[in-house]
Amino acid sequence: MVRFMNVTKRYGALTVLDDLSLDVAEGEMVTIIGPSGSGKTTVLRMLMTLETINGGVIYVDGKPLTHMPKNGVLVPADAKYLRRARSSIGMCFQHFNLFPHMTALQNCMEGPVQVLGLSKREARERSEELLEMVGMIDKKDQHPSRLSGGQQQRVAIARALAMRPKVMLFDEVTSALDPEVIGEVTNVIRRLVSEHNLTMLMVTHQMGFARDISDRICFFYGGKIEEQGPPDDLFGNPRRDRTKQFLSAVK
Ligand code: ATP
Repeated sequence: MVRFMNVTKRYGALTVLDDLSLDVAEGEMVTIIGPSGSGKTTVLRMLMTLETINGGVIYVDGKPLTHMPKNGVLVPADAKYLRRARSSIGMCFQHFNLFPHMTALQNCMEGPVQVLGLSKREARERSEELLEMVGMIDKKDQHPSRLSGGQQQRVAIARALAMRPKVMLFDEVTSALDPEVIGEVTNVIRRLVSEHNLTMLMVTHQMGFARDISDRICFFYGGKIEEQGPPDDLFGNPRRDRTKQFLSAVK
């Protein structure tokens, strides 16, 4: 579903992703872990087409994301192509970025109406179903300022899902939350993993959560995958010295 083929990303002289190749299968939940600055968030930002690419190609569902076919060759995508390609990706960030002047329900309806062209009735039905799924239907008419961090993050997840993305990205979605509300957000993600066949890529510092819900863990170091495997293998029996050092430091 997602394929990074020899992707390189540089900021000036700094190479952040170094000839990275990564495949995520349909319905797979992959978590990226690694030290600060190893390029984890950059992977997600590249998928959101928030960054230009310096080398390689990214594919989503078999179609190039960063490039478009022209006269039989792939050329860097233009803004119109990128806008369309981006709509297949949903993302939740550390900071929820809900529209402050809209209620929870209006936040969820906005994208489906404005971008997908759904009628208000269709968008409302879809949004209410998702707010129910994340346990926020009772608060659908509240504005974000009246909601706790955990509640806002759950609305943000419903809002992203309302666009029916092919791939969901979660970037440190619990790190701005108070410890007592982290569980309500991780439980929503757990449900998505167990009940929906959604392809997901997550960056988190919560190793226990990553171990519990992921199909595969990728340990990043210096913009490359240093080691990857099923959670029990990678956490229980890491093979590379850098992985061992990182895991013993975060325990
Ligand atoms: P953390 O765990 O701290 O969030 P990360 O592994 O997610 O780190 P990235 O955010 O992907 O790391 O950043 C990788 C590197 O790229 C870092 O050294 C960062 O300083 C650098 N970087 C990120 N964005 C930019 C930018 N817009 N301009 C210049 N350098 C950047």
